[in-house]
Amino acid sequence: NSFGNMMLHPLMLDVIKKLEFQKPTEIQQKVIPSVLKGKSVIGQSQTGSGKTHAFLLPLFNQLDENLHEVQYVITAPTRELATQLYNEVKKIIKLANKEQVWKAKLLVGGTDKQKMMEKLKEPPHFIVGTPGRILDLVKNEALSIFSSKAFVIDEADLMLDLGFIDDVDQLLVRCKPEIQLMVFSATIPQRLEHFFKKYLENPLHVKI
Ligand code: AMP
Repeated sequence: NSFGNMMLHPLMLDVIKKLEFQKPTEIQQKVIPSVLKGKSVIGQSQTGSGKTHAFLLPLFNQLDENLHEVQYVITAPTRELATQLYNEVKKIIKLANKEQVWKAKLLVGGTDKQKMMEKLKEPPHFIVGTPGRILDLVKNEALSIFSSKAFVIDEADLMLDLGFIDDVDQLLVRCKPEIQLMVFSATIPQRLEHFFKKYLENPLHVKI
């Protein structure tokens, strides 16, 4: 029950210390070791459980900074939620003193697409955004996500309610079949179960 015995890199332990997290929350205890092993995860939990860092900390831990291609795609159903996630990503990068090395881009609607396409000429390690805009850029060949090692679907139930699950589906068919998938949702409706069966092989299912 401590971050110290989770096999995290000393640099990540230092980030956790700077975040002033004393010990992992319940979902972090369960999810972090599995994500580090490359396992796919379905996390059923509410906001406030510490779910964001349950996936961000181990993903950062496994980042290959020398590989200049998209390694992680993190999706959320709204601009606001995507922006919040992006801010957490930026905070970790800052606390690790890696601002010149670890690269993240926020891709949401309502922003200048041309400018965004220009900025994507150097692929970032992290893509954070809403599925529609990410898909738009992938279809325009401004971005390739085939190199991604992991894909996060945050607030999957809301993703379904807002009608974005088809965009997520379209993104996943453009990734490697063996991609590590992490889905977080307060509830798991039937239609999500169906979706999971298509992409998840023997995932860890955590309910908090
Ligand atoms: P989340 O459920 O991801 O929205 O996180 C809720 C809040 O808990 C955020 O403000 C996090 O910064 C904070 N938090 C996440 N993990 C921990 C932890 N292990 N110890 C204390 N606070 C945490």
